[in-house]
Amino acid sequence: MKVSHIEHLGIAVKSLDEAIPYWENVLGLKCYAIEEVAEQKVKTAFFKLGQTKIELLEPTSEDSTIAKFIETRGIGVHHVALACENLEEQLADAEAHGVRLIDKTPRNGAEGLSIAFLHPKSTQGILTELCEDKNK
Ligand code: ZN
Repeated sequence: MKVSHIEHLGIAVKSLDEAIPYWENVLGLKCYAIEEVAEQKVKTAFFKLGQTKIELLEPTSEDSTIAKFIETRGIGVHHVALACENLEEQLADAEAHGVRLIDKTPRNGAEGLSIAFLHPKSTQGILTELCEDKNK
């Protein structure tokens, strides 16, 4: 596979209103976007940290995967997103290496990115998101 950098860290939070002040007031970062991704039943808030972003994820429904994650593991780092080009090719490559794909084909994520998740059982315990920015 070929990945270039950590595009963002996805962090599960119970409430954006509770979490954002930590990132803004303690770490001195600025929330530059809040977006609801209905398909994933989450509301997201974004911060920039160098070329990496921080994506806070608040569940908008009890059956959201983020709600389930918080229930079993608590709040905290949920996934690592790696930037790549030719997402379809990277998925095929991952599969060829025996990696279990959560998304066999790319779908739409926040910020207009094309995304796909790899299963943590085959990525050393790290829920991994691959992202391609088709707008650039
Ligand atoms: Zn993400």
